[in-house]
Amino acid sequence: MAQCAAAAATSGDVNGDGKTKRKVAIITGITGQDGSYLAEFLLAKGMRRVILVFCNVLTVTRLNTEIDLGNAAHDDITIPYPTVQCVWQISFDLAEYTADVDGVGTLRLLDAVKTCGLTDTVRFYQASTSELYGKVQEIPQKETTPFYPRSPYGAAKLYAYWIVVNFREAYNLFAVNGILFNHESPRRGSNFVTRKISRSVAKIHLGQLQCFSLGNLDSKRDWGHAKDYVEAMWLMLQQEEPIDFVIATGEVHSVREFVEKAFKHVGKTIVWEGKNEEEVGRCQETGEIHVKVDPKYYRPTEVDFLQGDSSKALKIIGWKPRVTFEELVKEMVDADIELMRNNPNA
Ligand code: GDP
Repeated sequence: MAQCAAAAATSGDVNGDGKTKRKVAIITGITGQDGSYLAEFLLAKGMRRVILVFCNVLTVTRLNTEIDLGNAAHDDITIPYPTVQCVWQISFDLAEYTADVDGVGTLRLLDAVKTCGLTDTVRFYQASTSELYGKVQEIPQKETTPFYPRSPYGAAKLYAYWIVVNFREAYNLFAVNGILFNHESPRRGSNFVTRKISRSVAKIHLGQLQCFSLGNLDSKRDWGHAKDYVEAMWLMLQQEEPIDFVIATGEVHSVREFVEKAFKHVGKTIVWEGKNEEEVGRCQETGEIHVKVDPKYYRPTEVDFLQGDSSKALKIIGWKPRVTFEELVKEMVDADIELMRNNPNA
């Protein structure tokens, strides 16, 4: 569950021709993968200035880093990774903190735009999420599917979703919800199952680890690549009208499949033996057990199936995913092999 997914606001700057050209972006949640990809994406699009904000335990959003991008190289984007661990630990434990950052935090930003008299110039992107669908009411999930969040995070994001709609309707603010399904990358936090798997497989491949444990192997997700998804964020902000979109691949894979593909990439075939908590994943070639099930990773209110339908996005903003599931798994495993080879404790 992404706790501090990026929300972006871009402010207008009037050109000589009277048209508004956006030159400044504020991105919250830059310690997460989306914030960093979005900053790089905007840089490449010629955005002159990106202000990076990360969510802080003490002061919900605190301006931490301001980078004048100019012609700066991408390396100049500083992402303080150590902070991630701290924020994650705390926010997983504290539902109230989640509500404060992911729910009321959005209201604070919208209020700031309004209070500063910027409703005509700012464009606001809300990092909405497929977690809103939780206990799914329809398959696949699209913009009109009723929400049914199943976690404090989902409930907080539900509030954020509606407060964005409210500001759009009440104050005519260009504010949009991007309902993004799971999107991964080598920058994904290691608490997420995809990165946990890619890291563990990399370690096993390098002989640094023998076995790791997972929870629900049969949970299914619609996994895309974060790079494709930040492009959707940008496209949503370039439209004439503010419209909410589902962003997804439409393809569903299980945790089990992710495990199999990741191992296959390093030349290991995983065969499953046993049932439920006794289930193990064994390497067919060596006979070694590499995967176990540990009930401590089960969730009290599991979201076991998410599949998005982003045909509206394809039709209206021309967005579709480029990276396939297979390519995503390979990229993540390769990146972790590289990382672990140089730094086994990473
Ligand atoms: P989420 O969709 O935002 O909750 O993304 P996650 O990557 O955290 O979880 C995706 C699915 O993987 C969920 O249904 C989890 O229950 C399942 N899962 C199975 N084992 C694990 C595990 O060890 N860690 C995590 N994070 N998820 C796991």
